[in-house]
Formats: sequence, structure tokens, C-alpha cells
Amino acid sequence: MSKTAESVWNNCLAFIEDNITSQAYKTWFEPIKAVKLTDNALSIQVPSKFFYEWLEEHYVKILKVALTKELGATAKLVYIIRMENTYGNKQPFTEKIPSANRSNLQSQEIDVPLKNKSPELKNPFVIPGIRNVKIESQLNPNYNFESFLEGESNRLARSAGLAVANKPGGTSFNPLLIFGGVGLGKTHLGHAIGVDIKDKYPEKTVLYISAEKFTQQYIESVKKNNRNDFIHFYQIIDVLIVDDIQLLSGKAGTQDVFFHIFNHLHQNGKQVILTSDKAPVDMIDIEQRLLSRFKWGLSAELNHPDYDTRVAIIKNKLYRDGVEMPEDIIEFLANNIKTNIRELEGAIISLIAHSSFNKKEITIDLARKIVDNYVKHTKREVSIDYIQKVVSDYFQMDVDTLQSKTRKRHIVQARQLAMFFAKKFTKASLASIGSQIGQRDHATVLHACKTVDNLSSTDKQFRKYVEDLSKKLTL
Ligand code: ADP
Ligand code: MG
Repeated sequence: MSKTAESVWNNCLAFIEDNITSQAYKTWFEPIKAVKLTDNALSIQVPSKFFYEWLEEHYVKILKVALTKELGATAKLVYIIRMENTYGNKQPFTEKIPSANRSNLQSQEIDVPLKNKSPELKNPFVIPGIRNVKIESQLNPNYNFESFLEGESNRLARSAGLAVANKPGGTSFNPLLIFGGVGLGKTHLGHAIGVDIKDKYPEKTVLYISAEKFTQQYIESVKKNNRNDFIHFYQIIDVLIVDDIQLLSGKAGTQDVFFHIFNHLHQNGKQVILTSDKAPVDMIDIEQRLLSRFKWGLSAELNHPDYDTRVAIIKNKLYRDGVEMPEDIIEFLANNIKTNIRELEGAIISLIAHSSFNKKEITIDLARKIVDNYVKHTKREVSIDYIQKVVSDYFQMDVDTLQSKTRKRHIVQARQLAMFFAKKFTKASLASIGSQIGQRDHATVLHACKTVDNLSSTDKQFRKYVEDLSKKLTL
């Protein structure tokens, strides 16, 4: 990959950021823009002469180290001093700088005319007029703030989202990183912010994209040799919402390109909203320079909803679907599905479907069955019945066959696996396991456990059974 002024400078910045205080970094380095790279000389634009002097006085050493690392011993640094309010007048906007002898880096004078008069369009990538191009925002209008119920678990994230929607790019919540476990509303909230911004600022270009799709697009662009078009496209967005950013982990190329896009948007006061299933500290295989940027704004967590919020969410869903449900069943659901709002909604939908298919009333019994069948068995103790069901489903037999007295090899193996997992995942004694799985004695169960242990270390196929079943049982 060829070096650009931006890429070289970004690498320098990453190095510098790690070596000075964040306050100093914000004050003295964030306002700098890399302008060009020619003959191993990097031109950076600084806002004033004072700024330049300060850099030379205090940071020339680290600048030199950083730049030499990037460009080798012949590296040069060129300052371009950009005077404010000189747009449109014919005076050169740069000032001539006497060669700085204090540093070994050479400074030279340079005079680059501004291409246009609008301070907004100082970025060469932004072609005038391109803003008229309509970009579909990919937002789901049903995921809005109104349908995103407030509770203790989401108060901070929700209000930060509202603040961002009121003033995109204009708060210190940039980026806004929303993180939390599966099914807790990250995607919903991300959309809600976008929908609200579109509503309040119709002229803004808002784009929602999953990190997965972003990655695909990037890979496509590399294949088709239009990586730059890809980058430019993202650089003209006003509000960029990237969902499930943790999916960038381990993807160095995508991270790199996202880093550039992020920097560009951030520097231009554009709003970035990210969601992740982990807090930044827990993200693995994401480059440090990206992680540090994720922390610039606000990280707000979505927690597990409390009981009242769960009840409110259920009622809201029923209301929107025009369905009535007895209060005790609502309470039952809220009491039994605690950690995932998507599952809560799934259970409600199944419950309604079952009752209307079978023309049955919605009863607690039905609710209990649904919760058992449709909700992942997290945390709740797995029962021996459940293990037998999962194992026999896996081998496409029924539980009676699994328990039968037959000596057919594949049935014996299934039975032994059921015993093995019963020992592993429940607190039941060998005797009790034996009596529940086809009236066997404790020695049979013990033998089964040993056999499974042996086979899974010698037989590849068998090991796969154990792994698959393990996964199914611990989901
Ligand atoms: P995540 O992206 O965190 O996995 P989603 O945003 O997809 O979760 O949310 C899962 C489901 O739960 C969605 O249907 C969403 O509408 C619903 N949901 C999540 N949080 C709330 C909330 N606070 N109020 C109402 N519905 C919610
Ligand atoms: Mg999501």
C-alpha cells in the first residue's frame, strides 16, 4: 500500500499520542492536518504561527522520531501556517517560515493556494455538488425513540442518544459508543438516533451500516480496485452509524480504512455512532489507535432491563400488536426472561402464534412450555430430560429409542453421551442419572462417562459429537 500524507501522519499521531498527555495531544496535535507528501517531506497544516513555534519549541523531538520511523532518515517536515479568515482574499494564506535551525528537521516555506472559498469544502475529496447525491440512510423507521422504552438499564445510553440526535457532531459524545449484550437494544437505539436526526435535519446525510456489511463493501472495493471511491463515499456522510463494531476485530485492512474514515469525519465535526457487544477495554484484536479513538467520546452501556422495564416492554409490544394477555402471564414472562429483550419478544410472538393456531387460550402452562422451548437455556440448570431430548434430536431418534435396551452401536453411543452430559451439566448422582436414562445402574453411567472421555480423545468424529452437543446444551 502506498503511503499518503494522511496515512503517514496518522501513524505519527498514533505514536505521539502514546507518548504525551492526552490534554497536550488534544491541544497541539488534533488541530493539525496532514496536507501532502512529496519527496519524503510531509507537509502539515497548523492554525497559526504561534502554534508552529510552540510545536518547534516543545515537540520537535517527538515529531522527528515519529516521522523518521515512518519515512526514514531523510524525512522532512514542512509546516504550512494557515491564517484564519483569509478565505477569498488574494494574500497568500501561508507565512514564510525561516528555516528552523533548532531542529534537524528542515522546515521550508510553501505556498499552496486554497482551491475554494468555502471553509466547509477544504477537503479535496469533497467535490462541490456531491452533497446533492442522495444516499439511502438504510434506517428502519420502526426503530425509533418512541418505541425504545426508557428504564434504569438504558437511561444513560438513551439520553446520550437523544443529545446526539439534537446536535449531531455538536456534543462531546463523539463518537457515541453504545455497548451491551445480545438483544439489549443496541441496534434499535442506533437506528433511533439516525431516524431522529433525519427528522430534525432532513438535509443531513445519515447512514446506518453493519460492520459486517462495511467489511464486505471494503473487500469488494479492494477487488474492484476502487478503494478510494469507497473511502470518499464514507467521508461525505454527516452521521455515520456502524453497528457491531466488534466484528472488525482481527480485520486489519478494514480497521485501517475505518480509521481513516473515522478521523476524517471526526475532524470535520461529523457524528459517529458505534455499537458493540463489548466495552472498548474488552475488545480484542482491534488496533490500539482505533480503540483510543472509540474512547474519545462517550461509551454508554445497555444493561439488562429490570423487572418493570421488562413488563413495560411486553405491554408495549402487545399493545402495538393489538393483543391482550392476562396480567399473570405477562408477569410470568417478565420473571423468566431476564437477559435478552429479543428473546422476550420472541416468546410473546410464539405464544400468540400458538394460541391462535390451536385456538387455545393463552395459559400459564402454554407460557411455560414456550419459555422452555424457545428461550436459550442460559444460566438455568439443564435438566436430564432436556439433555436426553437434545441428544436424541441430534441423532434423529426419539427419547424412547435412546432409553431402550438395544445394543445397536449408535444408540448405545447416544445413550452414553446423554449420561456423560448429565454428569457434566447437572448435580445429579450417578445412580439418579442411571435411573432417569433408561433404568440403568450407577456403574453403567460411570462406564459411559469413561467411554465418552476415551472416544473423544481417539475418535475425531466422536469428538465432533461431543463439541456439537456441548454447544447446543450451553447455548
Ligand atoms: P441488539 O442489537 O443489542 O442485539 P436489538 O436492538 O436488536 O438488540 O434489540 C432486540 C429487540 O429488543 C428489538 O426488537 C428491539 O426493538 C427490542 N428492544 C430492545 N430494547 C428495547 C427497549 N428499551 N424498548 C423496547 N424494545 C426494545
Ligand atoms: Mg444488533
